[in-house]
Amino acid sequence: MATMESLIGLVNRIQRACTSLGDYGGDQQAFSSLWDALPSVAVVGGQSSGKSSVLESIVGRDFLPRGSGCPQYLMRPFPDSMSLGIVTRRPLVLQLQHTEEGQEEYAEFGHLPKKRFTDYFVNLTLIDLPGLTKVAVEGQPDSVVEDIENMVRSYVEKPNCIILAISPANQDIATSDAIKLSRDVDPSGERTFGVLTKLDLMDKGTNALEVLEGRSYRLQLPWVGIVNRSQADINKHVDMMAARRNEREYFATSPDYSHLASRMGSEYLAKLLSGHLESVIRARIPSITSLINKSIDELESELDHLGRPVAVDAGAQLYTILELCRAFDKIFKEHLDGGRPGGDRIYGVFDNQLPAALKKLPFDRHLSLQNVKRIVSEADGYQPHLIAPEQGYRRLIEGSLNYFRGPAEATVDAVHFVLKELVRKSIGECQELRRFPSLQSTIAAATSEALERFRAEGKKTAIRLVDMEASYLTVEFFRRLPQEIERAANPGGNPRVNPRDNPRENPRDGSGAEAVTLDRYGDGHFRRIGSNVSSYVNMVSENLKNTIPKAVVHCQVKEAKQNLLSYFYTHIGKREGKQLGDLLDEDPTLMEKRQQMAKRLELYKKARDEVDSVSWVR
Ligand code: GDP
Ligand code: MG
Repeated sequence: MATMESLIGLVNRIQRACTSLGDYGGDQQAFSSLWDALPSVAVVGGQSSGKSSVLESIVGRDFLPRGSGCPQYLMRPFPDSMSLGIVTRRPLVLQLQHTEEGQEEYAEFGHLPKKRFTDYFVNLTLIDLPGLTKVAVEGQPDSVVEDIENMVRSYVEKPNCIILAISPANQDIATSDAIKLSRDVDPSGERTFGVLTKLDLMDKGTNALEVLEGRSYRLQLPWVGIVNRSQADINKHVDMMAARRNEREYFATSPDYSHLASRMGSEYLAKLLSGHLESVIRARIPSITSLINKSIDELESELDHLGRPVAVDAGAQLYTILELCRAFDKIFKEHLDGGRPGGDRIYGVFDNQLPAALKKLPFDRHLSLQNVKRIVSEADGYQPHLIAPEQGYRRLIEGSLNYFRGPAEATVDAVHFVLKELVRKSIGECQELRRFPSLQSTIAAATSEALERFRAEGKKTAIRLVDMEASYLTVEFFRRLPQEIERAANPGGNPRVNPRDNPRENPRDGSGAEAVTLDRYGDGHFRRIGSNVSSYVNMVSENLKNTIPKAVVHCQVKEAKQNLLSYFYTHIGKREGKQLGDLLDEDPTLMEKRQQMAKRLELYKKARDEVDSVSWVR
């Protein structure tokens, strides 16, 4: 008996959990419904056939609505999703709870979740369905007959539903609505109990032995005859105990049924039902277990996909935020270091964009004969230079070097945009971040701020490289210049010997020096200056082609890799719990979905524990 009780108790608990979580079974559930896998007992029959009375006496208490409607119990009709347009005729689902030793037993209805009923007979899950009708009466929609039948059918056609087919004995069994419907949904009769009520109301001289002994209509389970309280008894407030007594007495003393007395009556029906329920539940335990396990697996993997619930305390939230940042940072690094695409575009900037930009600088124009002449003369002032136009050279070179600022800045900007794009991509690719739009935009803002800082630093450094080239010219280069002037003026002479130092050594006796003087202010002279400057500028250009990328990598790429979120990290720790929570604001629809799934998962896990605990009881 203890085993049976724990089994039925298990079903009740699982069903109760299902009800409270809104899992009423049926097709609307995305997950295979646990509810549908559990056995239940439903009463079917025509109106006033005695359905509520039978349930009542099985349960042992008169708390079911009786008669043609049940408005006082339908404060929260069950199930909510069912819409029939006839509020007073919805099914009642009872959850009868057998509690631990010492505690009082109580019953709860699906529609009255808080109210507990105590003092009843046995643990069962029962569904009191509206009576089947034949015509719509005044005030009812025409569809009512069909609606009720469809609704009742939806309950009893489930293979796990045990049917109590209620037929009043004072009507011909051949006209029984209950038998008609149960034959439809359970043709082999393996889950239908035939219940014959109102035996006391039969015409004198007739009896129901044909039916009760299974000769009129054969079922695999036995027929049980019942005598419930009459309307007069109810009016007189005859209580359940007295009703039971009367019923027992009726069968014991009936000339027709006394030989069947031990197999008649509500108490016997309740026992029969319990025993049957036990065997059904036992048989179903393996499939219930596998259904529960399957549902748990489905939910777990779906939850993994959605991400786990966000913690509520500030420390855990901070941890979550840092974890999410790290996940993003890891993806970003993969983009830079390879493994994910995009980092190569930085090399593209150094290898193509920068050299192309350097090549395009307008040195031809700047070092044109005309410009060189103008700048050198301007630098000379009132006194033209005597030997080499030192000032002119400086001005020409400084003017040229200024042009390098453009490509230097452009390289910094180009790499900045590549980095920005990689951040954008990485945020998008970070699966874990998807549920947190606020954190996403905060990370985007923090990284963009950091990248701007790196860009400013990169620009400063790259420009400084250009300025450094301008502030000190390579002496070595210019040391060679006078000799080259000589060589140009005296192609046959020894270029190492400066005629001005030792004119007598000149074999042509000063004619070379004269040529130099002649040429000093001619076009050739300025052209030579231009080409000297140009080759110096080319040398610088080669240098910068190498050093600008170093500056950019040092200030921007390496910093982005190491310190993209450092600034954010140092500030996030100072935030209040509320602000942290705001960062972890989830997409509300997603949050709700996950909460629901988490609840459901909890239900299934609880159910699994329950099943585990009863399957060990032998
Ligand atoms: P339901 O509409 O099928 O739920 O039927 P109820 O249980 O509400 O019963 C309808 C009426 O029949 C009530 O007045 C009951 O008192 C009465 N009734 C039900 N069963 C019996 C019975 O076995 N004997 C007698 N005399 N009256 C009964
Ligand atoms: Mg009723």
